[in-house]
Amino acid sequence: MHTDPDCLFCKIVAGKIPSRMVYQDDELYAFHDIHPWAPVHFLLIPKQHIASMAQLTDAHAAMMGRMMVLVPKLALLEGCNPYPAGGFRMLSNTGAEGGQEVHHLHIHVMGGPRPWLRG
Ligand code: 5GP
Ligand code: ZN
Repeated sequence: MHTDPDCLFCKIVAGKIPSRMVYQDDELYAFHDIHPWAPVHFLLIPKQHIASMAQLTDAHAAMMGRMMVLVPKLALLEGCNPYPAGGFRMLSNTGAEGGQEVHHLHIHVMGGPRPWLRG
């Protein structure tokens, strides 16, 4: 599996930097964001190092599909209220103009009663 020894989220996957885990399987990892914007705010990432959505190829389609299907399940488990009164917000910042700070592909999942700090 491709990893980057200098990447913050690769270090989190490897357990070199502690995180509050939400979920993991053989190819995905989810953990609470260290600076939450909402009552529920976690990040879902591939365990392999992919810098951003800009690097995705057709070979990643199945894994990205698994991430999408997992989001609503984890959102409910983490305390987001059910759709339609509840729900959640998911986003993936990509590149400098997309507001990306950590260059390991991640999906933010946010939810819970408003108001939120951002968004
Ligand atoms: P980006 O701006 O790249 O989309 O988001 C990166 C996110 O990673 C930010 O929301 C930030 O709070 C979170 N983050 C940065 N460093 C750490 C860390 O060491 N641990 C955790 N759990 N989250 C982090
Ligand atoms: Zn990485």
